[in-house]
Amino acid sequence: MLYKSLNNFKHRVSFEEALFKGLAPDKGLYFPVYIPKLKNIFIKNLIFKKKKTIATEIIKPFLKNEINEKKLFKIISDTLKFSFPLKEINDNIYSLELFHGPTMAFKDIGAKFMSNCLKHFLKKKKNYNTILILVATSGDTGGAVSNAFYDIENIKVVILYPSKKISKLQEKQFSTLGKNINALEIQGSFDDCQNLVKKAFLDKNLKKKYFITSANSINIARLLPQMFYYFFSYRNIKRKYNNSEIIFSIPSGNFGNICAGILAYKMGLPIKHLIASTNQNNTIHRFLKTGKYKPYPTLSTLSNAMDISDPSNFIRIKHIYKNFFFLKKKMSSYYFSDESTLKIIKNIWKKYKYILDPHGAIGYLGLKKYFYFYKKNYNTIGIFLETAHPIKFSEKIPKYIRNNIFCSKKINFFLKKKKKSILLSNNYFSFKKWLLNNI
Ligand SMILES: *Cc1c(COP(=O)(O)O)cnc(C)c1O
Repeated sequence: MLYKSLNNFKHRVSFEEALFKGLAPDKGLYFPVYIPKLKNIFIKNLIFKKKKTIATEIIKPFLKNEINEKKLFKIISDTLKFSFPLKEINDNIYSLELFHGPTMAFKDIGAKFMSNCLKHFLKKKKNYNTILILVATSGDTGGAVSNAFYDIENIKVVILYPSKKISKLQEKQFSTLGKNINALEIQGSFDDCQNLVKKAFLDKNLKKKYFITSANSINIARLLPQMFYYFFSYRNIKRKYNNSEIIFSIPSGNFGNICAGILAYKMGLPIKHLIASTNQNNTIHRFLKTGKYKPYPTLSTLSNAMDISDPSNFIRIKHIYKNFFFLKKKMSSYYFSDESTLKIIKNIWKKYKYILDPHGAIGYLGLKKYFYFYKKNYNTIGIFLETAHPIKFSEKIPKYIRNNIFCSKKINFFLKKKKKSILLSNNYFSFKKWLLNNI
């Protein structure tokens, strides 16, 4: 498989190159030159297959001739070391819990797969500069990437995050580790952090000194494995109900997760509809309504991992759906206030004794809203992605609910450690100077 830059379709590279570069030299995001179609019989037989086999089959065509099947299976086995349970909340609505990995958010899957691929290719290379992984995080990418790349030889990780805009546990998960993991606390928003990273990618002086890559969801290697759990959920539902139709609601920020869902659909997974549920940062909701893409300044909300007003991955979605009306038919987008988010967290706890995190809560609200407009058939199953463990956002959840969150030892371990971040202003030159002097 070759990957093209979305800014220039003639610029084509291998998976390895797309993985190492992150972003094409012309700033374009990489995208496979075609989307492989799975055979109907594969979809039909999903119910009989194991997760690792399914994952290997799905991703195999994207890595053809670059990583052999045996090695790929090993990488996948190392990536999928935890479970992806579907919990029924009520009335054919399910929570797909994606937080059972080491840093308790869905990003563990993409980050781990990416680091395993990187390690695989690095083993074969002899001479290369230090690899510098630059990451902007709205909270959870930082933890997932630090965990996946911690203490790997010849790799340095620099994480930029918006000061005071992420939760304590999120911050501690990557700012306390040390070794090859560096945390920069930027006095600005997530979009500011993302812009600093994008600038660094194009900086000739920096590129002379390091091999710079990214581990954000702009990296195709992080995005592809996120298709897995759409297939797993489909399999699990089909094992229970043969004739159901499935709708996914995805709490969205940078729109990587939902882009992976659309890819899964385009490969042949029967997904009836996808809902991009967001907080007040509602650029895509407005885009689908008016056809005009007009990001406003980013607002801080309870669901801070989604405080993004200019989602990078939307370009990929627009590339898949060149026709605006087809896109609107397959994907809806609703947005919700902090007030509704809190209200639904309380309600769901009261009625079903299930604890939503603020992101999952928005996913749940998206499904409810969709079903309000489009009546649910008896065989419709709604699945919202519960993207993080509620403990990661416990400061934002009312105390009487918070006290019921099961808290593992892993968490206290992080919370007790001292943060070692460097505070920087939102200024490219101070950021560059820090890099050159410290990495
Ligand atoms: C990153 C993140 C999101 C947003 O995912 P995107 O792929 O950027 O849309 C949602 N919820 C949580 C908890 C996250 O960490």
